[in-house]
Amino acid sequence: MQGLRRTRGQEQREEQHRTALALGKAHARLGLWRLCDNDECRRSKCCGGDVDQCGARAAPQGWTWLHHVLKGLREGRSRPEAVEAANLATLGYRQRVTVRWKVKGWDPIEFVQLHDGSWEHADVADARPPLDERFVRLAESAWLRTGGPSGRARKV
Ligand SMILES: [Zn+2]
Repeated sequence: MQGLRRTRGQEQREEQHRTALALGKAHARLGLWRLCDNDECRRSKCCGGDVDQCGARAAPQGWTWLHHVLKGLREGRSRPEAVEAANLATLGYRQRVTVRWKVKGWDPIEFVQLHDGSWEHADVADARPPLDERFVRLAESAWLRTGGPSGRARKV
């Protein structure tokens, strides 16, 4: 048995594997096989092709958003943080800032920076991409929360 030290390459492969597993589960839970362009997938109620490509084709925006959420979680963000970052990324916002005035009684104002560099009041701009509710519920469900630890490297 080799040492337990893992190389960066191994870790990356494990991350990829975990992401692929999560995407596969997401595809199944969302029932995206209904939209598979392969009859066999629809008959077996399970995508038999490339799940990632298939999900991206069936629900482009939601799938991109899900990728961002998973990326955030991989980077160690909490779920709400990962969802927030995914929302900003999917909407194409660069960042969100809160401007606090040094004047008593003036409420802070939230701005978002749009992809063209201009700023918009956060309450005017969309806070969330027009996602399919199922994606939002999926991100809030337990499987995403437990996605990390269950995939953690086993002790050999
Ligand atoms: Zn498919």
